[in-house]
Amino acid sequence: MGAEPFFDMHKIYMTPGDGIGPEVMDATRRVMGWYSQNRNFAFDSQEGPIGGAAYEATGTPDPDQTMADAKAADAVFLGAVGGPQWDSLPYDKKPERGLLRIRKELGAFANLRPAICFDALKDASSLKPEIVSGLDILIVRELTGGVYFGEPKGTTVLPDGQKRAVDTQVYTSSEIERIIRAAFELARLRNKRLASAEKSNVMMTGILWREIANHLHKTEFQDVELTHILADNCAMQLVRNPKQFDVIVTDNLFGDVLSDEAAQLTGSIGMLPSASLGARKGEYLPALYEPIHGSAPDIAGKDLANPIASILSFAMCLRYSFERREDAALLDKAVETVLQEGYRTGDIMQPGMNKVGTSAMTSTILKALDRLAV
Ligand code: NAD
Repeated sequence: MGAEPFFDMHKIYMTPGDGIGPEVMDATRRVMGWYSQNRNFAFDSQEGPIGGAAYEATGTPDPDQTMADAKAADAVFLGAVGGPQWDSLPYDKKPERGLLRIRKELGAFANLRPAICFDALKDASSLKPEIVSGLDILIVRELTGGVYFGEPKGTTVLPDGQKRAVDTQVYTSSEIERIIRAAFELARLRNKRLASAEKSNVMMTGILWREIANHLHKTEFQDVELTHILADNCAMQLVRNPKQFDVIVTDNLFGDVLSDEAAQLTGSIGMLPSASLGARKGEYLPALYEPIHGSAPDIAGKDLANPIASILSFAMCLRYSFERREDAALLDKAVETVLQEGYRTGDIMQPGMNKVGTSAMTSTILKALDRLAV
């Protein structure tokens, strides 16, 4: 047996963050270990702090070293940031600054959030099973522009003593074009239907967004069906008839809200991974992979967190960054299998099922991988 070929070595950076972040990251690390032992997946991993943990260790939630190490990696895994102990810090010291900066530094402009309802969990949704059963939609959210980053931003005191706060929604045509192009390309790999959600009835950025979507459709993507939908109507349609959608593309703010809404359709926020893709760098699509949930301080450190969102973010990494589609499908299948077998963490617990903690759920998934891989 010769040495591993060079191109199989993936450089991975892990930044667990706060609350349940370290617990779910540990689960992902165990799954990566399984792939390295069983599927010729060699990785060189490094770890560093972000968010509240970084603030405690270094005085800043977004250390330059973390950013530099993340940028040097082929893929970055993040747990979650935040917690009530840091709520009263000034804006530039809040844990969320770390999250916003790492996304920006990685140039990760396209946030992919699949909302898939596993058949075994169709009764766990707050919607009727027939509305969510078989649901498989992808929300593509613009991640590095819009109102979270636009200037001016700030709070001033007016002459009459009132405070005035400003956030600015701003998009350039190139920022809009690259996210809509990415969404068209993803729709092409799926059911070739793209819904573009904005507020072109009341927002200038919405008008530009729609204009660019139409132009790209006409010039490059006529094989994909394009529909426009106002973001507020999209929010309503997601609970009325979510299966009408295939891929939804939207801006940073609307995407934040719509993707959390879509998450709830599937039963639990603890089930959903995300990928944030940047521009291709050589062989890799360097990207940030993270569960969509937060740091869940209410259950942190108790072995209660559902690790599936984080584990499935590794499946997304295999699929998008490393183009190992079969390996990604194997992991998706292992998760589906343990759910069918009745294993549940507390957030997705149903009567008659087998309740397990973070660590036991991970072990069960590893055992399913062992069985499915033979
Ligand atoms: P949250 O996602 O942390 O928790 C919402 C609810 O879902 C809680 O009841 C929690 O226990 C539960 N939950 C979340 N993930 C779970 C999992 N894997 N397994 C089981 N249950 C899970 O959102 P929140 O309570 O609004 O925010 C808590 C903190 O997280 C805040 O500081 C917030 O700013 C931060 N946050 C961070 C991110 C991120 O890092 N990407 C995202 C959202 C919120």
